Order: sequence, then structure tokens, then C-alpha cells
Amino acid sequence: MSVYDRDNIFAKILRGEIPCHKVHEDEHSFAFLDIMPRALGHTLVIPKVPARNILDVSPQALCQTILTVQRVSQAAKAAFAADGITLSQFSEQAGGQVVFHLHFHVLPRFDGVALLPAHTNVESNETLAQKAAKLRAALAEIHA
Ligand code: 5GP
Repeated sequence: MSVYDRDNIFAKILRGEIPCHKVHEDEHSFAFLDIMPRALGHTLVIPKVPARNILDVSPQALCQTILTVQRVSQAAKAAFAADGITLSQFSEQAGGQVVFHLHFHVLPRFDGVALLPAHTNVESNETLAQKAAKLRAALAEIHA
């Protein structure tokens, strides 16, 4: 089993060493926008504990994280008037994982609109800030 790298980019985001467009934070989980969105409102949900991927995360941390995945999915569908949501999670390089801190992709989907290819569409800070504000508002409304 590969070890957890404490200097991966999401660990740095969790420590506040790298900025992000945060949409949610609680004791156990954290959610922020993907800087190269494959869909409008593409959000990443991660546990706060160090976990490389689905293969080494504790059952408890996984459960806490998936609850946030559900909340973010519900809020994203409302915020962006999406028709559906796609979730994805990649584990290890062969599984398509690039950043080695467990994360779930929450991808709002629209009828007839394909996902963009991964790691191609670099979004502007301004647009990301706008989308994050919308998603935070929807989270606050849904879970008030
Ligand atoms: P995966 O490891 O599941 O293949 O994907 C990692 C995801 O992290 C990609 O969708 C990529 O766009 C995103 N990503 C990579 N670096 C950063 C970063 O510095 N900030 C944010 N917010 N997302 C990132």
C-alpha cells in the first residue's frame, strides 16, 4: 500500500497554505471548487483526516465525507439548476487519480451536455468565486 504524502496539494489546501474557493467546512470534511472544472459547479469533497484514497480511508471518515458529498450534490443541483449529478472518485494512478488525498468529484449535469475532458478547462478566479458564492448560498438554504 502506498503511503500518504502530507505535501499533496489538497493537504496544503486543508492547512491553508494554498488558496481555494471553499464552499463547505465542518469538523470532518471540506469542499471546494475544482480549478479545472469538467462541468459548471464541479466541486471536490475531501475528508480532513489524511487518507490517500478509497483504499485506505477509515470507514468512519468515509461515512462523514459521503454525507457532505450528498449535501453538496443536493445544493449544487439547486444552485445551478442542474438536471442531475455525476459523482466520481479515482483511486491510484491506474484508477485515474492525480491528487493523492481522497476526494469525490461532484459534477452537476445538464441534459445533452457532455463532461469536458479532465485537466483542460482552467477556470478564472472570478467565475470560480461567483460559483462558490452560489453554492454556499444554496447549502445554507437547504440545510438551514
Ligand atoms: P483526480 O485526482 O481525481 O484525477 O483529480 C484531481 C482534481 O483536482 C482534478 O479535477 C484537478 O482539476 C483538481 N485540482 C488539481 N490541482 C488543484 C488545485 O490546486 N486546486 C483545486 N481546487 N483543484 C485542483
